[in-house]
Amino acid sequence: MKGDVNPKYNELNADLHCHSVVSDGTLTPTALVERAHANGVELFALTDHDETAGVAEAAARAAQLGLPFVGGVEVSVTWAGETVHVVGLRVDPQSPALVAGLARTRSGRLERAREIAVQLDAVGIPGAFEGALRHAGNPDLVSRSHFARHIVDTGRCASVSEVFSRYLIAGKPGYVPHRWARLEDALAWIQAAGGVAVLAHPGRYDLDDTAFDALMIAFISNGGVAIEVVCGSHAPSQYATFESVARRYGLLASRGSDFHGPGESRHDLGSLPTSPATLEPVWRDWPEARDRGLR
Ligand code: AMP
Ligand code: MN
Ligand code: MN
Ligand code: MN
Repeated sequence: MKGDVNPKYNELNADLHCHSVVSDGTLTPTALVERAHANGVELFALTDHDETAGVAEAAARAAQLGLPFVGGVEVSVTWAGETVHVVGLRVDPQSPALVAGLARTRSGRLERAREIAVQLDAVGIPGAFEGALRHAGNPDLVSRSHFARHIVDTGRCASVSEVFSRYLIAGKPGYVPHRWARLEDALAWIQAAGGVAVLAHPGRYDLDDTAFDALMIAFISNGGVAIEVVCGSHAPSQYATFESVARRYGLLASRGSDFHGPGESRHDLGSLPTSPATLEPVWRDWPEARDRGLR
């Protein structure tokens, strides 16, 4: 898959995965763009969970700052009983098919949040529904992150990452399995919105080799074109693993911090190393990247 790509092209400081208050981040879209710009990001995307409502605000601030920007989203998918995240990049945030699909994907969240709160109440954490809602910038998108911040507020855990080892995960209090979008639907919405589909943080899925291969085949046969290799959820030792996965399946490489907020995320915007030079970046043909004179 390697052609005559300018090696400098891979060196672009692209950050194509992060969250604002529109989903489970703690900064506004405007503040995120300003932070990305200050941190030296050269190509930026906002990828809120299951919602594109922050993209217009981010795009407007990015244009003022001269920061190349693309609209994005991170769609929650259920595939073979596992939760898998698919990032859509260069999507039209107003695409009717995407907007309607995301609305359906979000629709069970409040009910799920009530069930999470019932489980937490049973282990001595009362009022978690209201507590999570206080943290949610968008009442339509109450996520486990908002519960985690509330549990930190109560003093039971010192950090959000500690919460995610003691609560809210399979086998622990506050875990409510949920059916998200179908993989083929998520990919169809992203394509209908003019975007490209990226498999987010593949190192996080609890799949054996056979299931992972089946996921890759399903993703690619439905139009998926890229995979995150260097990302906030991967340990540096996993970069080589997913470099070889990208090569094996002929996928482009994407890169993103998955930043959720200062003091919470391990990786700040624009702080990750470049993708392995053997891979072609997902921004290979994007005019937003070409504008940087790296092609
Ligand atoms: P939900 O979509 O409501 O299931 O929430 C998923 C979100 O929880 C992810 O997008 C992360 O922001 C957060 N999350 C999940 N696992 C962890 C973890 N181990 N550490 C920190 N945040 C996590
Ligand atoms: Mn999140
Ligand atoms: Mn994710
Ligand atoms: Mn994310």
